[in-house]
Amino acid sequence: MNPVKGIDGQTRLVGVLGWPVEHTFSPAMHNAAFAALGLDWIYLPLPVPPERLESALPGLAALGFRGANVTVPHKQAVSRYVDDLSEGALAIGAVNTIVVREDGRTVGYNTDWRGFLASLEETGFDSAGRRALVLGAGGAARAVVYGLARIGAQVVILNRTLARAKALLEHLAPAVPSSALAVRSLDASALAEEAARADLLVQTTPVGMWPHEGESLWPDSLPWPSHLVACDLVYRPRETELLRRARQAGAGVVDGLGMLVHQGGLALQLWTGQAAPLHVMRAACVQALEVG
Ligand code: NAP
Repeated sequence: MNPVKGIDGQTRLVGVLGWPVEHTFSPAMHNAAFAALGLDWIYLPLPVPPERLESALPGLAALGFRGANVTVPHKQAVSRYVDDLSEGALAIGAVNTIVVREDGRTVGYNTDWRGFLASLEETGFDSAGRRALVLGAGGAARAVVYGLARIGAQVVILNRTLARAKALLEHLAPAVPSSALAVRSLDASALAEEAARADLLVQTTPVGMWPHEGESLWPDSLPWPSHLVACDLVYRPRETELLRRARQAGAGVVDGLGMLVHQGGLALQLWTGQAAPLHVMRAACVQALEVG
């Protein structure tokens, strides 16, 4: 239900393009933010199957939408259908936020990388010049690796499919110095070796996500190094099995909720020009998580 006052002809529209979108927290998070800011805006789930994505983009502008978020599975494909791309979206090759300008042109942004860095910063972790280990090489990993490399971290990417990690490296090459990045196949010995010399591990795969909460890429037999800060982009559950292992070893942990809230806050700012009420957005997500 829209928590803002009644919808009328003045109400401005934004939403999230995804397939499926039934489980997204974004409407709860953004509608709570609009209510807190007293803005007559509404955020809607927009279920768009892949074969309709191309026509959905001019549809957004035609229906008067001010913008949209983009989620799985459209983040990469949508880059082809927007009129312009921000520097970050172009470098990463993925769009998670679209702004529809007054003239109807659509601009694709990526707020995931800044949201990720903000979620680390708020826990007091300074990634600059540190060594980071990234598990996974999908769309989320691209944003994480780009963000880490931009602030001067050394990044090693471990992925199940080595070719995909190499493709990530190639894609980021124009924007990121190649000396900052390395790739390896994800297996138990590579994980143990790289984890021993890293300061931060970022888990960017869906492993451990509800309803498979018990799963983790971290082997049971491998003790968690207490110096290694763990960050998991999965936010449902909030404490994944991997984060539980790290916490029990006395290591620092960063959950995926921070990135979700910060990337959403940056999107809201792009649409409305207003600073996002992050505490309200976080509370809405926590409530959505509790409701399940
Ligand atoms: P994606 O593009 O589909 O990439 C998935 C990655 O996970 C690939 O590298 C894939 O490896 C790897 N993977 C999948 N299953 C695996 C398994 N069983 N064992 C080992 N590796 C496996 O997905 P994405 O868009 O990057 O999203 C990944 C996760 O990040 C999702 O859970 C998403 O909800 C989360 N996320 C969170 C936020 C946030 O704000 N917190 C933002 C973005 C994404 P292969 O290449 O070998 O297939």
